[in-house]
Amino acid sequence: MATDEPRCPYCIEENGFKLLTLIRDTLRCGRCGHMLRPADANFICNCPHCERMRLTIGSESGETRPETKSRATRTPTSQPSR
Ligand SMILES: [Zn+2]
Ligand SMILES: [Zn+2]
Repeated sequence: MATDEPRCPYCIEENGFKLLTLIRDTLRCGRCGHMLRPADANFICNCPHCERMRLTIGSESGETRPETKSRATRTPTSQPSR
């Protein structure tokens, strides 16, 4: 049994996680589009799952200051002509 086979951590099939398809140097999930490139450490997958995970981590670690400007910009020079 080859347990080291690369599988998608997001897609589950009957036998377990979905196997990734190897295309050149890139492993790709045919269902969600999750990609993996073992040779490239800087490779960033942009599938919906990884994207959401990055957004979640980024928003929690970074300081988020919601600037609520409730100032209505009104023009003081509103003179009706005649
Ligand atoms: Zn997948
Ligand atoms: Zn991914």
